[in-house]
Amino acid sequence: MELVRIENITKTYYLGEVDVPVLKGVSLSISRGELVALTGASGSGKSTLMNILGCLDRPTSGQYWLDGQDMSQLSPNARAEVRTEKLGFVFQNFNLLPRTNALANVMMPLEYGVRQMHRGRAKRLAISLLERVGLADRFAHEPSQMSGGQQQRVAIARSLINRPALLLADEPTGNLDSHTSVEILQMFRQLNAEGITVILVTHDPKVAASADRVIHLCDGLVERDEFRAAAVQGASVTIAGLDDQAADQPAPHEQPVASAAHSEATRPAAPGLMEDGSPAEVRGWEVASIVPPTFRTAMGALRRNKMRSALTALGVIIGVGAVIAMIEIGQGSKNALQKSIASMGANNILVLPGAAASGGVTFGSGSVKTLTPSDAEEIKRQCPAVAEVAPTVRSRAQVVFGNRNWNPNQILGTTPDYLKIRDWKQMDEGDMFTDRDIRNGSKVCVIGRTIKRELFQNESPLGKQLRIKNVVFRVVGVLGPKGANMMGMDQDDLILAPWTTIKFRVSGVSSTMQSASTSSSSSSSDTNTLSDLYPGATSLYPERSSVQAADTPQPVRFITVDEIMVMAASDKHIQQAMDQITQLLHERHHIRPGDDDDFNLRDMSEMTKMLTSTSSLMGALLLVVAMISLIVGGVGIMNIMLVSVTERTREIGLRMAVGARSYHILRQFLVEAVVLCLLGGGLGIALGRAASILVRAILRWTTQPSIPAIVAAVGVSVTIGILFGFYPAWKASRLDPIEALRYE
Ligand code: ADP
Ligand code: MG
Repeated sequence: MELVRIENITKTYYLGEVDVPVLKGVSLSISRGELVALTGASGSGKSTLMNILGCLDRPTSGQYWLDGQDMSQLSPNARAEVRTEKLGFVFQNFNLLPRTNALANVMMPLEYGVRQMHRGRAKRLAISLLERVGLADRFAHEPSQMSGGQQQRVAIARSLINRPALLLADEPTGNLDSHTSVEILQMFRQLNAEGITVILVTHDPKVAASADRVIHLCDGLVERDEFRAAAVQGASVTIAGLDDQAADQPAPHEQPVASAAHSEATRPAAPGLMEDGSPAEVRGWEVASIVPPTFRTAMGALRRNKMRSALTALGVIIGVGAVIAMIEIGQGSKNALQKSIASMGANNILVLPGAAASGGVTFGSGSVKTLTPSDAEEIKRQCPAVAEVAPTVRSRAQVVFGNRNWNPNQILGTTPDYLKIRDWKQMDEGDMFTDRDIRNGSKVCVIGRTIKRELFQNESPLGKQLRIKNVVFRVVGVLGPKGANMMGMDQDDLILAPWTTIKFRVSGVSSTMQSASTSSSSSSSDTNTLSDLYPGATSLYPERSSVQAADTPQPVRFITVDEIMVMAASDKHIQQAMDQITQLLHERHHIRPGDDDDFNLRDMSEMTKMLTSTSSLMGALLLVVAMISLIVGGVGIMNIMLVSVTERTREIGLRMAVGARSYHILRQFLVEAVVLCLLGGGLGIALGRAASILVRAILRWTTQPSIPAIVAAVGVSVTIGILFGFYPAWKASRLDPIEALRYE
């Protein structure tokens, strides 16, 4: 049956201006089971013809049928498929993968098969083939550890792994000594005896003599085509015998073939090629295993160049490390900032009595007090976006304990909710005063740490009594430390007391109550008030009589507070809370639309915004720097991948010759780049984490590990691998198989 038929094949190389016609119309027909030698002087076009027969090259004109299929019009990828399914190649210079052991070399073509083969089975097949070619003890040897003859045997085993119908050998003995040549030729004869059609290209008449049929090429034309009668008969006998052998040798590959290794030169060994089903069915396997073969190949390639891979990945390692460290440090400082903002009360809204204007003169905020404790109660009751409310009264006075005195930063009259609003969680000692103390105007107070230090010299002040103006307060608790706020003000330098006590006992009277209470100026508490410079002196104006009071009715005065502190339910509720408070106070204070408010709302959002925007700007800048280093790393990867593609051009050619499609090559180099980047990314993450831990340990900066950053780093490394690996991989996949094979 006819396997190969070519008609009028021509091949012309175009070298600039000159045309080099190499084949000038070759027609041939080769049947299944033949052993053909293609000879001719060097330069006569043998290799060119073989490349065309091997579907590696296309003829300039003419037609080619392989196994009845027209090859002339096939696309490069379709030709690659034909190569895996039907063809095996043996080259003069063996073309084994360097630094790859014999077993892996033999299994290599299985990466590009059309069907899946389990890895274990693929391995057994490769082992049995290596045993067949007499290399039972050389599985783990790399090409550099083997002689030329052994390398060529490995190459033969490799050419057989896909059970080719046609084996093409281009000067397979050209690099071997005569003794080894004989062995190799015997191996071809034997394979031929098992049913494989062999085309042997050689310039050596002695080698050609071992074939059944010799085709002489001369100057691009077939000069002679000799069938050697005896040999032809021998061939047909073997072909006839093949069927018998196939019938009584069910699964020769799976058998222990130790004996075959020795006997192969002396007797026809088990065919081993007809394992299950017809050759056409079992050809072109692809190795299936848990680890995808592409990944395995990529790892192998990287392992072969450890130092270079490590250096290449360095760019990504540093880039990813920088990104991770930057993000962790940035997050840490942002958190610290947020904490310090929260300690000032990030969700807090301050309701201040409004600036009153009277006849065009503004008295400034707080000059007229309009906020009442019941405003505070109603805000808490009616505004859903408000979590806590504390009316506050302020006072400034000297505090005396025994023979020591101190001028606290703040003396605040408030409610127990003040602590919640200020996020003041723990007490050092004792407890906060209670709502009952507020109702009773109890003379109790809670002091900050600074007061405890200054007045009580760190002895426990609980139950001790201190004097504010002339009022005696019992200390019931000491607040936990809060430190300085962002303005550097000591927040622990304060005294908290029920607002009623401060309002009515310490401040004496509020400014609005003043006029009403001047009449009863006999109280001892008036002694220290600045508004009454000369205690005991007669007032400037005579007291109002009851008749006068009745004649000039004063508007009803309210008890007022200096400010109301409000905490919104969350930072997202601040605006809502402010709107609700505004609306409520409008109602309560009877402010008509268009009139000026008699209160003021302040919140921290401006400051929070400013601070966070500064820190995120810094973070973004650092990130940009880190990204630039990642890009630099990516360029390094691209550079090395390009070098690697050039360096491995022959490997690419070989892989294509045994059937790799262009996308296989693309995938292999892409995976290599991505694996490199992923390894770099992994090490970079470790490096970044280590750096941030070091920064925390040595510089005492707060850092915060960030899972999204790690995920992003992995994503970025993969992206960089794909982006910068694509061009080299694409370049590799565009190589022409023969050009690549010829590449020096
Ligand atoms: P051989 O019979 O020795 O194997 P080849 O088939 O390799 O000869 O080459 C036949 C002729 O074609 C030679 O003269 C060679 O110079 C020419 N040739 C081969 N490959 C190319 C090429 N890629 N470009 C130009 N000329 C080529
Ligand atoms: Mg040649």
